[in-house]
Amino acid sequence: MKSNHFDVIVIGAGILGTFHAYHAAELGKKVLLLEKDPFPVNATVRNFGQVVPSGMSSDWFQFGVYSTRLYKTIQSQFDISIRENGSVYIASDPDEQQLIHELKQRMDERNYEAHLLSKAQCLEKWPALKSEYCLEGLFFPQEVSAEPESTIHRLLLYISAKFSTLHYQPDTTVLSCDTVEGVVKISTDTHDKFTADKVIICNGSEFKLLFSDLFRKSGIVVSKLHMLRSAPLPKLALEGNILTGLTIRRYESFEECPSFPTLQTPPALQELRQWGIHILFKKAADGSVILGDSHEYAAVNQPEKLGFEINQHINNLMLAEAARIIDMESFQVASSWAGYYSQHPEKDIVEIDIENKIHIRTAIGGKGMTSSAGYAQKSIERIFE
Ligand SMILES: Cc1cc2nc3c(=O)[nH]c(=O)nc-3n(C[C@H](O)[C@H](O)[C@H](O)COP(=O)(O)OP(=O)(O)OC[C@H]3O[C@@H](n4cnc5c(N)ncnc54)[C@H](O)[C@@H]3O)c2cc1C
Repeated sequence: MKSNHFDVIVIGAGILGTFHAYHAAELGKKVLLLEKDPFPVNATVRNFGQVVPSGMSSDWFQFGVYSTRLYKTIQSQFDISIRENGSVYIASDPDEQQLIHELKQRMDERNYEAHLLSKAQCLEKWPALKSEYCLEGLFFPQEVSAEPESTIHRLLLYISAKFSTLHYQPDTTVLSCDTVEGVVKISTDTHDKFTADKVIICNGSEFKLLFSDLFRKSGIVVSKLHMLRSAPLPKLALEGNILTGLTIRRYESFEECPSFPTLQTPPALQELRQWGIHILFKKAADGSVILGDSHEYAAVNQPEKLGFEINQHINNLMLAEAARIIDMESFQVASSWAGYYSQHPEKDIVEIDIENKIHIRTAIGGKGMTSSAGYAQKSIERIFE
C-alpha cells in the first residue's frame, strides 16, 4: 500500500467529519481527515454547544444519547470541555406546560431521566429566571454542554493522539474527487494527490467546491442564525442548557407530543416566530452567556442572499424576549455573530452515495453538536458493511 493511499478519506473536519473519522479509525481503518481551513471556523465553532437529546425526534434522540455517552467517555480521558450540568425547558404558559408534561411522559416510557420542577424549584436552581415568566420546568440532569470554540480543536488533538492509523491534515482544500478504476482520486490546493477505497464528504455548508451540480439540485437550504455573547457574568446563576417557551414551541421532540398540532402562536410572539427566534441561554466556562437565536433561510445555490450583516432589529427582538425571561440588567453585549448551517426541508440529513465509493453526508441542520457522534457511528457501519 502506497503511503498516500487510505482506506478512507474524510473531507471536512467539522463535528460530523471528525466523528466519521473517529468511528472509521475505531474499525481499524487507515484514515485521512482533510480540512480546508487552518482550523474549523464554521457551524461547529459558532454554536451554543448545547448537547440536548431531549429536543430531538425519536430516531435522532438515540443518536443524541449515544453522543452524550461518548462525549462523557472522551472527557474522562482528555479535556474536550464537556460539562455535565443538564438541560432545562422553562414553560411560560399553560400550553407550554402541557407540552413539557407530555414530553416527560414520553421520556419516562424511554427510561430517560427527566424531572418536572415546580416554579419555586426552578427559581431556586436558576435565580436569574423571572418569576413572572417561569411557570414550571422540565429538567434533564444527564445532558451536557460543550465550549464549541475549543471542543473541536481538543477533539482533533485527542483523535490524532489516540489512533495511529488516523492522520489529520488541516489547511488543505479538496478540489476534486473522482473514481478511477475502482479507486477514488483526490486533488487538493496543496498539490497533494491522495487515493482511497472510500471517500466521505462532510462539507457542512460549502457547496461550490465539490459536486456543485448535484448540490444545486439537492433541495438543501442554508440557515443563518444570529447569536450574542455577554461579557463574563460570574454572579449570574444560569448553569446548564437553558431552553425556553419558544423552544418548546419549536423543537422536534415537542412536535411529536399529542397537543402540539393544536398549539396556537399568541399574537405577542408572532414577530419573533417570523424571524425564527427562540431563546436559549448557555453560560460558557468563562462566565459569559451565549444568547440566541434566529433563523433566516436561502436556497442552496443562493446563500449570498442571507447577507453578511448582523441585523440589529433581530438582536433587539432577541434581547427584549430574553429580558422577559431573565434579569438582563447586568447583560452587556460583548459580541454578536452569524452562524450558518445547512438542512433539508424533508430529510433529517442528506446522504448521497456515488458508486458505493463516495459518500456525501451533510445538512444535519441544528442538531449536529448533539447527534453527530451517534449518527456517524451508524453511518460508518453502513458505509463499510
Ligand atoms: C449559531 C448556531 C447554533 C447552533 N447550536 C447548536 C447547539 O447548541 N446544539 C447542537 O446540537 N447543534 C447546534 N448547531 C448545529 C451544529 O453546529 C451543526 O449541526 C454542526 O456544527 C454541523 O457540523 P458539520 O461538520 O456538518 O459542518 P461544519 O461545521 O460546517 O464543518 C464542515 C467543514 O468542512 C470543511 N470543508 C468543506 N468543504 C471542504 C473541502 N472541499 N475541502 C476541505 N474541507 C472542506 C469546512 O471548512 C468545515 O470546517 C448550531 C449551529 C449554529 C450555526
